[in-house]
Amino acid sequence: MKSRGLAVENATSLLKTFEFDRRKLGSHDVGFDVKYAGICHSDIHTARGEWGNVHYPLVPGHEVAGVVSSIGTSVTKFSVGDLIGVGVFVDSCRTCDNCLKGLQQYCLEGMTGTYNSIERDGKSQTRGGYSNKFVVNEDYAVHIPKNLPLEGVAPLLCAGITLYSPIKHWNVGPKSKIAVMGLGGLGHMGVKFAVAMGAEVTVLSHSPDKEIDAKKMGAHHFVSTKNPEALIKLKKSFDIILNTVSAELDINEYLQCLKLDGTLVVIGLPGIPYSLRGAVMLDGRRSLTGSMVGGMAELQEMLNFCGEHNIVSDVEVISADYANTAYDRTVASDVKYRFVIDASTF
Ligand code: NAP
Ligand code: ZN
Ligand code: ZN
Repeated sequence: MKSRGLAVENATSLLKTFEFDRRKLGSHDVGFDVKYAGICHSDIHTARGEWGNVHYPLVPGHEVAGVVSSIGTSVTKFSVGDLIGVGVFVDSCRTCDNCLKGLQQYCLEGMTGTYNSIERDGKSQTRGGYSNKFVVNEDYAVHIPKNLPLEGVAPLLCAGITLYSPIKHWNVGPKSKIAVMGLGGLGHMGVKFAVAMGAEVTVLSHSPDKEIDAKKMGAHHFVSTKNPEALIKLKKSFDIILNTVSAELDINEYLQCLKLDGTLVVIGLPGIPYSLRGAVMLDGRRSLTGSMVGGMAELQEMLNFCGEHNIVSDVEVISADYANTAYDRTVASDVKYRFVIDASTF
């Protein structure tokens, strides 16, 4: 299938128009017209080589929302005209313990990323959602509730699920005191979900001007981490801290804000190791853990939850020619709160 989108040629090049072929529709494949593609900070880390190992030219994009245009002969899950979403991966081994548990993101053979991966045929390279057309196996795509604005849904396919999954896994609820580090694409979804679960939510942000927005999203407290005293005052305050920060930081300052048996979940992935002080883990029997997106069943559950609670991402819709500026603004934490590319402009 002829496709047109944006690609980078190397770690320092800009996104430029790129034409390429997607595979012919297999019997379990669904073809769709992309309508919106979110810009995740992971796209930027990958495109700029910050995580190493990139197959260029790279077409990023793993928050892909569109409308089904064709279906393979054995497809049962989708019909032409349905809304469809694709997230961070497009395949996995399907047979390992983790895949069988519906945790395909932790596939023991490694999930097949929506971009920068080799398909399980061992030959073709996956290409992401910054493009006008997409082909995906029906098992790795989800239905989108019809009542939600599609541009606000696209970011749910990575940013949304990546915060929904740990919030569910660590049982965030009405008795939880939770902090979200970083009010960006992921962080703002964390606030919305934690508020929807009834938790008391604090935003820890290095951008003081985001306070009004954080409160509008339902956060109960906003703490500017620009003030060096701020985190000291929050010692032993939270049950859970969700770290969505995309840059290097001193993790110890945040760990000490956990209560007894509290848990800090690493979600942001700057690509630079954290340096950990053992003493801060011992005092309060604290846990440091991580979480990576969510499995296919949970992705659908999250979208259904959003449909029922009217939750979408706050987005700035842009045209393809603005994507390079959007990258720079995202890195500068100047995003409110997700850039989404209108696929009709590719
Ligand atoms: P984003 O929109 O750029 O948000 C990151 C936020 O981190 C910024 O808005 C900013 O919030 C804060 N921040 C940035 N630079 C900072 C600095 N120097 N000091 C302190 N805070 C800083 O990025 P995103 O798309 O939400 O992604 C966040 C991270 O999660 C990225 O590293 C991404 O690769 C990773 N990620 C992980 C998964 C997973 O499965 N675990 C999935 C997707 C993405 P404030 O302005 O409020 O401080
Ligand atoms: Zn992402
Ligand atoms: Zn597997």
